[in-house]
Amino acid sequence: MRSVAIACVKNEIDIVEPFVRHTVAIVDRLVILDNGSQDGTLDVLRALRKEGLPLDVVEDPLLGKYQSQRMTRLMHEWAIGRHDADWVVALDGDEFLVIPQDAPLVPGEIDGDRPIAVPWRTYVAGPSDDVGQLNPVLRIRSRRVANGWEASKVMVPRTLAALPNATIAQGSHEIFVDGRCCEPRRHESGYLAHFPLRSAGQYAAKIALNSLQYQTMAERNWQWAFHYKEPFELLKRDLRAFTASFTTVAMHYAAPREARIEAATVIDPICYRGGPLRYTPPVDDISRPWQTLLSYAEDLARRYAVLAGGLTGGQQLAMEQQAAIVAGLHDQLEQQRKHLACFVDQAAAAREEQQKQAAAARAEQQKQVAAAREEQQKQVAALAANLDAQLAEAKRQRLEMEEQLRVAGSQLARVSRSWTWRIGRLVVGPAAWANRSQRRCLQALTSLHLRTSPKRLPIPNLQIHVAHSCNLHCESCSHYANQGHRGIVALEEAERWMRLWNRRLSPQIFALLGGEPAMHPQLTEFVRMARKYWPEAELQLITNGLLLKRHHDLPAALRETDTCVCLSIHHGSRSYQEKLRPVLELVETWERSQGIRVQYLHSHRVWTRRYKGFGSAMEPFDDGQPRLSWENCVAKGCYQLFEGKIWRCAPLAYLKLQSAKYELSERWQPYLNYQPLPPECTPEELAAFLAKEEEPCCGMCAREPQALELPLPMTVPFSAEPRRKAA
Ligand code: SF4
Ligand code: SF4
Repeated sequence: MRSVAIACVKNEIDIVEPFVRHTVAIVDRLVILDNGSQDGTLDVLRALRKEGLPLDVVEDPLLGKYQSQRMTRLMHEWAIGRHDADWVVALDGDEFLVIPQDAPLVPGEIDGDRPIAVPWRTYVAGPSDDVGQLNPVLRIRSRRVANGWEASKVMVPRTLAALPNATIAQGSHEIFVDGRCCEPRRHESGYLAHFPLRSAGQYAAKIALNSLQYQTMAERNWQWAFHYKEPFELLKRDLRAFTASFTTVAMHYAAPREARIEAATVIDPICYRGGPLRYTPPVDDISRPWQTLLSYAEDLARRYAVLAGGLTGGQQLAMEQQAAIVAGLHDQLEQQRKHLACFVDQAAAAREEQQKQAAAARAEQQKQVAAAREEQQKQVAALAANLDAQLAEAKRQRLEMEEQLRVAGSQLARVSRSWTWRIGRLVVGPAAWANRSQRRCLQALTSLHLRTSPKRLPIPNLQIHVAHSCNLHCESCSHYANQGHRGIVALEEAERWMRLWNRRLSPQIFALLGGEPAMHPQLTEFVRMARKYWPEAELQLITNGLLLKRHHDLPAALRETDTCVCLSIHHGSRSYQEKLRPVLELVETWERSQGIRVQYLHSHRVWTRRYKGFGSAMEPFDDGQPRLSWENCVAKGCYQLFEGKIWRCAPLAYLKLQSAKYELSERWQPYLNYQPLPPECTPEELAAFLAKEEEPCCGMCAREPQALELPLPMTVPFSAEPRRKAA
């Protein structure tokens, strides 16, 4: 694998020699473009080349910081065109590659189809410096501590570098192909030791020169030089303040405004591989900025003279006038940019404030959820204690009844042996009485057996679909009943499911719902059957109410079974309220005249999105924080009894109905693989299932509640027919 590094330098006399020596110890070849240095940098480069190092020196004295064009040219013409590079490493003269000893520059597992981002570690001059050391890489030993913000430089594979439409971005942080940025992968073992500010004089020279270079570019982008602007203004205004700001600036150099940099350093000298310096002279730090500036001004003046020499007096005047106009426009633009920056700062501060408030609200919500959970646990504990007391009482009653049964049995035996028994008509009475007593006792014993079964575990809320279909279409319905499903659950089937579990579970609430339960023609029988299998549970019928009027015998069953009607209200609009009015009148009559309990649930006010999209276009949230999703879940603890198994919630239980009907995307597969609890499970497995909090499957739900203003649910939600599975 052949690696070629490319770099542009201008007036880097103090660091260019260690840069070349260190870099060629790591890459196969180095190509440096010197952009008209006037401080001796070019002489040092020529001497290094003469020494025989694998170095090419390209000279380009044109004004202007055309770094992107120059680096792109070096990549195409030199790295690829002349040296047949497999990887092109874009560097600056103050960046030193640090790769672990014996490790390759490009890790073996990386294939050559994407660029690599090599992260920066920025070194800053400080008290730990070895002040007698000429080589700045050995002199400066401290670097900024790592923080959330991190810039990088790009390494480009041949597959991209050889494309004629590939360009290196200004600053060499990215590579673009056809104007689109290629997503890099991060270099995990190596980094770039970056020495941008090495002394106050070098800093002043750098700021002055780079700012002026940018200003000579007619088509410059002000963002390119954002970190030079303010220091340049300060340098013009107050040299003393500029010099005093050196240490602070070094700590924040090149970081974007919003980055939070810790004002701390760590001593971490790099492993310099370049050997001793031979051509680098000592530099006078005080005169360095002035020499640089004077040389640059001299160069500009010379070019101006050449330019002006080719113009007539009138053209010169016009040029001066245009220059004055351009300068005025530039000042205006600068003014506007400052206003804009101020506005952006204010917006950022407002956003930060909003984020703080949102975080506080979230913390408060989590506190409430935790408190609610604690309360629920207390209730479950109280329920369990209550159940224990009932168990003891029921055991006592069972013993009593067994005794009565034994007495009745012995009386029957005595009677059947007596003369009375043998005398025809007199036999009938006691025998019928004994048979009745025995039957009653057996019934009572069955009920007691159910109530005294020691293996029943408390569960907060167990729900069963009476019907999968619904007469409404509430967007993002967590039972998918808005998605056009059909069908009801047969009475016999539901009974079989209940019989599998009623000796093992003791639900605090047992809820009949769907879909819309009133779509089931045998809803009344369903209610009675539910009470038979769950004699102690709070029985609830959760309904939108619009079809209740079909079931004339329902009120009697609700009263007998002490079932609460939970009327779920799905919109606040006038048209919906109009539709709901007869329902409200009906249930109020039931409440008033028959003592039936009714609860009104304003579901539309607390509606949240449970998944994205509809039908085949439906997608899970997959936002990577199942714990948060679970903590914010409103369906927590609402277990489903479906197909004889227990499911942790409706979105998981009925997803298979969706999959049977629509071509769901691959992203649903992990959730379709969810395993419910089968009835053959052991008591330990059942207890473990009920104790589970979040599971990976909770990733399908949003980590934060996605409030949704529920559209009117009376209209079918899709305007076009969704893509359905082939029959
Ligand atoms: S009324 Fe709405 S929320 Fe309730 S089952 Fe029907 S579609 Fe779902
Ligand atoms: S998958 Fe988890 S978060 Fe989503 S509804 Fe079910 S229990 Fe709640």
